[in-house]
Amino acid sequence: MSAPFQGEGLLLVIAASSGTGKSTLCQALLHTSPRYTLSVSYTTRPPRNNEQDGVHYHFVSKDTFEQMIQREAFLEWACVHDNYYGTGRSATEDLLRQGYDVLLDIDVQGARQIRKIFGNQATLIFLLPPSWDAMVQRLVGRGTESQEKIQRRLQTARTELPAATEFDYIVENDALDEAVQTFHSICRSERHTAKRMHAHLQAFLQRIPSP
Ligand code: 5GP
Repeated sequence: MSAPFQGEGLLLVIAASSGTGKSTLCQALLHTSPRYTLSVSYTTRPPRNNEQDGVHYHFVSKDTFEQMIQREAFLEWACVHDNYYGTGRSATEDLLRQGYDVLLDIDVQGARQIRKIFGNQATLIFLLPPSWDAMVQRLVGRGTESQEKIQRRLQTARTELPAATEFDYIVENDALDEAVQTFHSICRSERHTAKRMHAHLQAFLQRIPSP
Protein backbone atom coordinates (compact mmCIF):
# COMPACT_ATOMS: atom_id res chain seq x y z
CA MET A 1 0.00 0.00 0.00
CA SER A 2 1.40 3.43 -0.90
CA ALA A 3 2.20 5.96 1.83
CA PRO A 4 -0.72 8.16 2.91
CA PHE A 5 -0.87 11.84 2.19
CA GLN A 6 -0.80 13.96 5.35
CA GLY A 7 -2.69 17.11 4.47
CA GLU A 8 -3.45 20.27 6.31
CA GLY A 9 -7.06 19.53 7.23
CA LEU A 10 -7.96 17.27 10.12
CA LEU A 11 -8.88 13.67 9.39
CA LEU A 12 -11.78 13.04 11.76
CA VAL A 13 -13.05 9.51 12.17
CA ILE A 14 -16.51 9.25 13.72
CA ALA A 15 -17.59 5.77 14.66
CA ALA A 16 -20.68 4.67 16.51
CA SER A 17 -23.08 1.80 16.60
CA SER A 18 -26.23 1.93 14.47
CA GLY A 19 -28.90 4.04 16.11
CA THR A 20 -26.57 6.48 17.89
CA GLY A 21 -27.41 9.40 15.62
CA LYS A 22 -24.07 9.53 13.84
CA SER A 23 -25.46 10.69 10.48
CA THR A 24 -27.56 13.37 12.20
CA LEU A 25 -24.47 14.63 14.03
CA CYS A 26 -22.40 14.68 10.83
CA GLN A 27 -25.12 16.65 9.02
CA ALA A 28 -25.34 19.10 11.94
CA LEU A 29 -21.56 19.61 11.83
CA LEU A 30 -21.62 20.26 8.09
CA HIS A 31 -24.22 22.97 8.66
CA THR A 32 -22.25 24.72 11.40
CA SER A 33 -18.97 25.30 9.56
CA PRO A 34 -17.71 25.30 5.98
CA ARG A 35 -14.45 23.81 7.30
CA TYR A 36 -16.06 20.39 7.54
CA THR A 37 -16.74 18.10 4.68
CA LEU A 38 -17.92 14.51 4.60
CA SER A 39 -16.11 11.80 2.69
CA VAL A 40 -18.73 9.95 0.62
CA SER A 41 -18.01 6.23 1.00
CA TYR A 42 -18.42 3.46 -1.54
CA THR A 43 -20.73 0.59 -0.71
CA THR A 44 -22.23 -2.52 -2.23
CA ARG A 45 -25.33 -2.16 -0.02
CA PRO A 46 -28.47 -1.29 -2.00
CA PRO A 47 -29.68 2.30 -1.51
CA ARG A 48 -32.48 2.95 0.98
CA ASN A 49 -35.53 4.92 -0.22
CA ASN A 50 -34.21 8.37 0.63
CA GLU A 51 -30.61 7.76 -0.46
CA GLN A 52 -29.00 9.26 -3.55
CA ASP A 53 -25.98 7.94 -5.40
CA GLY A 54 -22.99 10.23 -4.95
CA VAL A 55 -24.60 12.02 -2.00
CA HIS A 56 -25.11 9.42 0.73
CA TYR A 57 -22.82 6.79 -0.83
CA HIS A 58 -21.35 5.83 -4.14
CA PHE A 59 -23.41 2.69 -4.74
CA VAL A 60 -21.33 0.16 -6.68
CA SER A 61 -21.47 -3.54 -7.55
CA LYS A 62 -19.42 -6.17 -5.71
CA ASP A 63 -17.26 -6.57 -8.84
CA THR A 64 -16.48 -2.88 -9.04
CA PHE A 65 -15.70 -2.77 -5.32
CA GLU A 66 -13.34 -5.74 -5.57
CA GLN A 67 -11.55 -4.17 -8.54
CA MET A 68 -11.14 -1.00 -6.49
CA ILE A 69 -9.58 -3.05 -3.66
CA GLN A 70 -7.08 -4.47 -6.18
CA ARG A 71 -6.23 -0.98 -7.46
CA GLU A 72 -5.68 0.22 -3.86
CA ALA A 73 -8.38 2.80 -4.45
CA PHE A 74 -9.44 2.73 -0.79
CA LEU A 75 -7.84 4.33 2.24
CA GLU A 76 -9.66 1.67 4.23
CA TRP A 77 -12.46 -0.75 3.59
CA ALA A 78 -14.46 -3.29 5.57
CA CYS A 79 -17.24 -5.80 5.29
CA VAL A 80 -20.10 -4.67 7.51
CA HIS A 81 -23.32 -6.71 7.79
CA ASP A 82 -22.46 -8.66 4.59
CA ASN A 83 -21.80 -5.55 2.49
CA TYR A 84 -18.57 -3.85 1.55
CA TYR A 85 -17.95 -0.26 2.61
CA GLY A 86 -14.84 1.77 1.77
CA THR A 87 -13.35 5.26 1.89
CA GLY A 88 -12.12 6.49 -1.49
CA ARG A 89 -8.43 7.30 -1.28
CA SER A 90 -7.96 10.06 -3.87
CA ALA A 91 -11.11 12.07 -3.08
CA THR A 92 -10.33 12.05 0.65
CA GLU A 93 -6.69 13.00 0.12
CA ASP A 94 -7.73 15.84 -2.22
CA LEU A 95 -10.09 17.24 0.40
CA LEU A 96 -7.40 17.12 3.10
CA ARG A 97 -4.96 18.79 0.75
CA GLN A 98 -7.49 21.56 0.17
CA GLY A 99 -7.48 22.13 3.94
CA TYR A 100 -10.91 20.72 4.74
CA ASP A 101 -11.52 18.90 8.00
CA VAL A 102 -12.73 15.61 6.58
CA LEU A 103 -15.33 13.56 8.45
CA LEU A 104 -15.18 9.80 7.97
CA ASP A 105 -18.42 8.17 9.09
CA ILE A 106 -17.05 4.63 9.29
CA ASP A 107 -17.21 1.55 11.49
CA VAL A 108 -14.76 0.36 14.15
CA GLN A 109 -12.84 -1.91 11.73
CA GLY A 110 -12.31 1.07 9.40
CA ALA A 111 -11.27 3.30 12.31
CA ARG A 112 -8.59 0.77 13.27
CA GLN A 113 -7.20 0.77 9.73
CA ILE A 114 -7.09 4.57 9.66
CA ARG A 115 -5.21 4.53 12.97
CA LYS A 116 -2.71 2.04 11.57
CA ILE A 117 -2.03 4.15 8.45
CA PHE A 118 -2.23 7.68 9.83
CA GLY A 119 -1.26 7.11 13.48
CA ASN A 120 -1.95 10.19 15.58
CA GLN A 121 -2.42 12.32 12.45
CA ALA A 122 -6.01 11.09 12.49
CA THR A 123 -8.43 11.93 15.29
CA LEU A 124 -10.67 9.07 16.34
CA ILE A 125 -13.96 9.97 17.97
CA PHE A 126 -16.45 7.43 19.27
CA LEU A 127 -20.03 8.57 19.59
CA LEU A 128 -21.82 6.95 22.50
CA PRO A 129 -25.63 6.71 22.76
CA PRO A 130 -27.15 8.05 26.00
CA SER A 131 -28.22 4.48 26.84
CA TRP A 132 -28.62 1.05 25.27
CA ASP A 133 -32.43 1.44 25.32
CA ALA A 134 -32.28 4.82 23.59
CA MET A 135 -30.11 3.28 20.87
CA VAL A 136 -32.52 0.36 20.35
CA GLN A 137 -35.50 2.73 20.23
CA ARG A 138 -33.83 4.90 17.64
CA LEU A 139 -32.85 1.93 15.52
CA VAL A 140 -36.38 0.47 15.60
CA GLY A 141 -38.04 3.89 15.25
CA ARG A 142 -36.35 4.87 12.02
CA GLY A 143 -38.07 1.92 10.33
CA THR A 144 -35.45 1.34 7.65
CA GLU A 145 -34.42 -2.19 8.70
CA SER A 146 -36.19 -5.52 9.07
CA GLN A 147 -36.38 -7.13 12.51
CA GLU A 148 -33.62 -9.55 11.51
CA LYS A 149 -31.31 -6.75 10.39
CA ILE A 150 -31.99 -4.82 13.59
CA GLN A 151 -30.94 -7.87 15.65
CA ARG A 152 -27.78 -8.12 13.55
CA ARG A 153 -26.91 -4.47 14.17
CA LEU A 154 -27.52 -4.86 17.90
CA GLN A 155 -25.21 -7.87 17.94
CA THR A 156 -22.53 -5.79 16.18
CA ALA A 157 -23.09 -3.00 18.71
CA ARG A 158 -22.28 -5.37 21.58
CA THR A 159 -18.80 -5.90 20.14
CA GLU A 160 -18.29 -2.31 18.92
CA LEU A 161 -19.17 -0.43 22.12
CA PRO A 162 -16.25 -1.82 24.21
CA ALA A 163 -13.87 -0.76 21.39
CA ALA A 164 -14.58 2.88 22.29
CA THR A 165 -11.53 2.68 24.60
CA GLU A 166 -9.30 2.55 21.49
CA PHE A 167 -10.47 5.99 20.38
CA ASP A 168 -9.01 9.41 21.24
CA TYR A 169 -12.32 10.86 22.38
CA ILE A 170 -15.72 9.59 23.46
CA VAL A 171 -18.66 11.94 22.94
CA GLU A 172 -22.09 11.17 24.33
CA ASN A 173 -24.87 12.00 21.91
CA ASP A 174 -27.58 12.87 24.40
CA ALA A 175 -28.44 16.41 23.33
CA LEU A 176 -27.40 17.03 19.71
CA ASP A 177 -26.39 20.69 20.28
CA GLU A 178 -24.10 19.69 23.12
CA ALA A 179 -22.51 16.91 21.10
CA VAL A 180 -21.88 19.39 18.27
CA GLN A 181 -20.26 21.86 20.70
CA THR A 182 -18.07 19.13 22.21
CA PHE A 183 -17.04 18.11 18.72
CA HIS A 184 -16.07 21.71 17.86
CA SER A 185 -13.98 21.90 21.04
CA ILE A 186 -12.16 18.71 20.13
CA CYS A 187 -11.38 20.03 16.65
CA ARG A 188 -10.20 23.36 18.04
CA SER A 189 -7.77 21.56 20.37
CA GLU A 190 -6.59 19.23 17.62
CA ARG A 191 -5.71 22.21 15.41
CA HIS A 192 -3.44 23.48 18.18
CA THR A 193 -1.35 20.46 19.01
CA ALA A 194 2.36 21.31 18.96
CA LYS A 195 2.79 18.93 16.02
CA ARG A 196 0.17 20.75 13.93
CA MET A 197 1.53 24.17 14.94
CA HIS A 198 5.09 23.18 14.03
CA ALA A 199 5.29 25.09 10.71
CA HIS A 200 3.64 28.15 12.26
CA LEU A 201 6.08 28.09 15.17
CA GLN A 202 9.08 27.74 12.84
CA ALA A 203 7.92 30.73 10.78
CA PHE A 204 7.52 32.71 14.02
CA LEU A 205 10.99 31.75 15.27
CA GLN A 206 12.59 32.74 11.97
CA ARG A 207 11.18 36.23 12.27
CA ILE A 208 12.79 36.86 15.67
CA PRO A 209 15.51 39.49 15.14
CA SER A 210 19.08 38.68 16.19
CA PRO A 211 20.03 40.11 19.58
P1 5GP B 1 -25.26 1.93 6.91
O1 5GP B 1 -25.51 0.71 6.08
O2 5GP B 1 -26.19 2.02 8.10
O3 5GP B 1 -25.24 3.20 6.09
O4 5GP B 1 -23.78 1.78 7.51
C1 5GP B 1 -23.43 0.64 8.24
C2 5GP B 1 -22.08 0.89 8.91
O5 5GP B 1 -21.06 1.00 7.92
C3 5GP B 1 -22.03 2.18 9.73
O6 5GP B 1 -21.38 1.91 10.96
C4 5GP B 1 -21.17 3.09 8.89
O7 5GP B 1 -20.47 4.03 9.67
C5 5GP B 1 -20.23 2.09 8.26
N1 5GP B 1 -19.57 2.65 7.08
C6 5GP B 1 -20.07 3.53 6.18
N2 5GP B 1 -19.14 3.85 5.26
C7 5GP B 1 -18.02 3.18 5.60
C8 5GP B 1 -16.69 3.11 5.05
O8 5GP B 1 -16.35 3.74 4.05
N3 5GP B 1 -15.82 2.29 5.68
C9 5GP B 1 -16.14 1.57 6.79
N4 5GP B 1 -15.20 0.82 7.34
N5 5GP B 1 -17.37 1.62 7.34
C10 5GP B 1 -18.30 2.40 6.75
